[in-house]
Amino acid sequence: MTVTALGFPSLRLPVTDAPSGGPLIDTFGRVATDLRVSLTDRCNLRCTYCMPAEGLDWLPADQVLTPEELARLLGVAITRLGVTSVRFTGGEPLVSRHLEGAIAAAAALTPRPEIALTTNGIGLARRAAGLKAAGLDRVNVSLDTVDADRFAKITRRDRLTDVLDGLTAAAAAGLTPVKVNAVLDPESGLDDAVPLLRFCLEHGYQLRIIEQMPLDADHTWQRDKTIDADRILATLRRHFDLRADPAPRGSAPAQLWRVVGPGPTGTVGIVASVSHAFCSACDRTRLTADGQVRSCLFSAEETDLRGLLRTGADDAAIEAAWRSAMWAKPAGHGINDPGFVQPDRPMSAIGG
Ligand code: SAM
Repeated sequence: MTVTALGFPSLRLPVTDAPSGGPLIDTFGRVATDLRVSLTDRCNLRCTYCMPAEGLDWLPADQVLTPEELARLLGVAITRLGVTSVRFTGGEPLVSRHLEGAIAAAAALTPRPEIALTTNGIGLARRAAGLKAAGLDRVNVSLDTVDADRFAKITRRDRLTDVLDGLTAAAAAGLTPVKVNAVLDPESGLDDAVPLLRFCLEHGYQLRIIEQMPLDADHTWQRDKTIDADRILATLRRHFDLRADPAPRGSAPAQLWRVVGPGPTGTVGIVASVSHAFCSACDRTRLTADGQVRSCLFSAEETDLRGLLRTGADDAAIEAAWRSAMWAKPAGHGINDPGFVQPDRPMSAIGG
């Protein structure tokens, strides 16, 4: 199998020092324009594929970026590094009382980035209009099933109604297109997928089904215990007429399908992060809640921007450190390599 078939880039630029200007490029020529910012590692759900029932050791408050520090890093990313879109995530970003402020700080920058949020939707019903007013453009709400019992089993919390109310409020506030992210439960997921898609089509939400990745805090992920994209597609096809979306996919992680019937129409995306990796098209750079840059979800390395900020580094020095971190971005996440080692931080502490 070639590296390209594994989703890896095939060309490598001469390995020198990171460029001091221009786009935020890596040695494979990929340009990062999409920044994922984790606001907190805390979450009010305990999804089985993400966090243990008892939670985790949360970051100490003094290690989390202050709103001022985050605003400064957002400024560096957008005005010096060419980032054009920012997605706030976590942990659960709605748990952070600084979310509206962080959105407003991003929205005040020139050029104004596109601003999105990934959330579990709990509390969104109360805050959707305010988030929109702060500058939020759109939202992805995570929802793995529309069955209340299964929701409680997967998330270890009985909060389905809150999530559904959050979705309704997001659409009413114009945080559109409203997308729904689903990770399918290994046991019941294929049964959940069909009603979930039906629900999304009926409400005008765009469903994205994401393959489960080895980013669980318990390190118990096993490939043969997860549901891959081909099985998801085959299941949906038994119930819906799906046509491949002809629009070019670009750097979008989801393979899009048009649902042409029967019943309500719309689109559904399948994100085959494991079985059909798309690392060659990756345009992401990540900032953890404690101010570490990660060039990849699966990075073993982090670059400490918080330390630079707190020792008086100027914006040029922060820019240079961020460029060096991204310059060293690995070719791919390596999940399919025999020597793959799961990163220490789980998804919730990186920012999904
Ligand atoms: N709390 C927010 C939420 O639920 O959307 C944001 C953070 S959460 C880590 C972001 C996304 O990562 C969610 O859609 C979640 O389902 C997904 N996720 C968590 N663990 C995952 C894993 N092991 N594999 C794939 N996706 C995962």
